[in-house]
Amino acid sequence: MSHVFPRHTKSIPPRATRGDGCYLIDETGKRYFDGSGGAAVSCLGHSDPDVIAALQDQAGKLAFAHTGFFTSEPAEDLADLLIEHAPGALDRVYFVSGGSEAMESALKLARQYYLEIGEPQRRHVIARRQSYHGNTLGVLAVGGNMWRREPFSPLLMDVSHISPCYEYRGRAEGESAFDYGQRVANELEAEILRLGPDSVMAFVAEPVVGATAGAVPPVEGYFKRVREICDQYGVLLILDEVMCGMGRTGTLFACEQDGIAPDITAIAKGLGAGYQPIGAMLCTDKIYSAIENGSGFFQHGHTYIGHPVAAAAAHAVVTKLTGGGMAARAMDMGGRLQAALEDRFGQHPHIGDIRGRGLFRGLELVQNRETKAPFAPELKLHANVKAAAFQAGLICYPMGGTVDGIQGDHVLLAPPFILSDNQIGEVVDKLSGAIDTVLAGVP
Ligand code: PLP
Repeated sequence: MSHVFPRHTKSIPPRATRGDGCYLIDETGKRYFDGSGGAAVSCLGHSDPDVIAALQDQAGKLAFAHTGFFTSEPAEDLADLLIEHAPGALDRVYFVSGGSEAMESALKLARQYYLEIGEPQRRHVIARRQSYHGNTLGVLAVGGNMWRREPFSPLLMDVSHISPCYEYRGRAEGESAFDYGQRVANELEAEILRLGPDSVMAFVAEPVVGATAGAVPPVEGYFKRVREICDQYGVLLILDEVMCGMGRTGTLFACEQDGIAPDITAIAKGLGAGYQPIGAMLCTDKIYSAIENGSGFFQHGHTYIGHPVAAAAAHAVVTKLTGGGMAARAMDMGGRLQAALEDRFGQHPHIGDIRGRGLFRGLELVQNRETKAPFAPELKLHANVKAAAFQAGLICYPMGGTVDGIQGDHVLLAPPFILSDNQIGEVVDKLSGAIDTVLAGVP
């Protein structure tokens, strides 16, 4: 028996031993198509020779140098590359080891910014009910994912949660998508006014919602209105691109497709593509200079900031996503995946919505397509689909959750960008088989 503390103590998963392109292989030799890149991590598959060479080479030269004493070439090169491709005025990069750390850093930077510029009363954070921003206590409070928050609720800071931009369920009959987006964006303004405009520090959102809802993109105009409101009231816009960023939606940063740029953004997952644990927070020069010209010290830090091996691996990843055209490939293959999903499930009586951007796609399971009534939560449909797909050799990322009182079951697909047309067929066939098997058992 191993002494590893597993995620589920009552069902130990198979032991993964090897990666091969889009596949993971367990110790019995069974191959699993990684249809969700784990959790939207493995954007380049599991055996990319360039990334492996980059991290091996760097480990041979310099594995670690604490940022309390040194900077390093891999961290500098990666920061430059990210800023070269970042939207708007993003200008500085702070490296960490994962998504939760990146989002915690973003919150602390926002708070310190207002201290530096003499607005210490700004402390309120507004986020959305349909969101996940990480599992550490600060960002767990910001997320709206009820089942993750519930056990720890006495430990969480107070955060306002407004409606998500969730067209499938939120748009009223006869309302245009644009008007719907403006209506839900305006909830931000109402909440700022309710809290007192001078007391609000930041609005936090995922450009395309991932884990809690299965690749929910905003409607056109939503984020432009959000940006306008933030600017009007001096509220910082923090975009969480931990899951949807790094080419996943077809552009390096997901928000590029909404025509806006944040004040602070967080990335992780696809940044290291699973080869190294790395995340980053990017901020504008305005925020950085407030600290540079003020206290001169960001009061935050972690041991592995700017880890040279992680940075070298991520540099190889981002080079492939940008110059190597892999983000553009995600856009192209994403369109093909969407078409294949629509072809297979477009008329399915229990698939209510097929959505997403690039290779970030979601399906929402419903009991009744006309009324959009969800299945009873006790059926645990999402968990059963995950298990049936895994049995069939497909890794996908199903989730169930309550948003605005509605329990939904969805399946998130986020395959490696290297997948082929045949492999799109494999994903759709295996997923379809898993969904049919599970539905056959529903009374
Ligand atoms: N933010 C988003 C949008 C995420 O999807 C996740 C993880 O799923 C996180 C933050 C937290 O990232 P990590 O698990 O690397 O801490």
